[in-house]
Amino acid sequence: MLRALFLAPPGAGKGTQGTRLAAAFEVPYISTGEMLRQHVADETELGIAARQYMESGGLVPDDLVVKMVNDRIRGPKPLVGFVLDGFPRTINQAEAAYEWGREHGRTFHAVLSLTVPDEELIRRVIQRGRDSGRADDDLDTFRHRLEVYAAETEPLIEYYRDRGILQVVDGTGSVEDVAQRLADSLAPLDLSS
Ligand code: AMP
Repeated sequence: MLRALFLAPPGAGKGTQGTRLAAAFEVPYISTGEMLRQHVADETELGIAARQYMESGGLVPDDLVVKMVNDRIRGPKPLVGFVLDGFPRTINQAEAAYEWGREHGRTFHAVLSLTVPDEELIRRVIQRGRDSGRADDDLDTFRHRLEVYAAETEPLIEYYRDRGILQVVDGTGSVEDVAQRLADSLAPLDLSS
């Protein structure tokens, strides 16, 4: 069983590695960015509210995101395992996640911090923008996303380090190399409950 979350700047490989890790542990992969993009595409009430924030590279307000994740994790049957990508992204969201974990006796096993230098992130995201046409992958918006990451999300690294569950993993190199480092960082952990 695995309850892990990725904590890394945009373009660090959370999606690629998160999908693989979730498949390896046979748990759902939950990406709040993907869920929100789907809401935008479907023009749901949430999608209409979230769109402007996403397009400018800012964060969608905490209450909207927390509700969306709660609905997904709680569902009819609360999930026992999962790989979260893109949540929590603020201290408020981390506190909401902690409350949920405490209520259900299910705290995170690991918070995986993927480190990649900014120049490499920019190179990857420019490529992704060309391949996928994601509106928030143009250079100016991306730089803003990096600033938002530094201001709002990076403080979570200390938050989880203080709780003793932070694993820092080098996110450079091939997809295989990074996947191996992630597996090595999880190997010593007790994932039995
Ligand atoms: P991502 O695919 O994780 O890079 O997310 C794309 C965009 O969705 C972000 O730039 C935010 O605008 C929004 N988003 C995703 N997850 C969150 C979150 N946990 N809190 C606030 N906004 C989010």
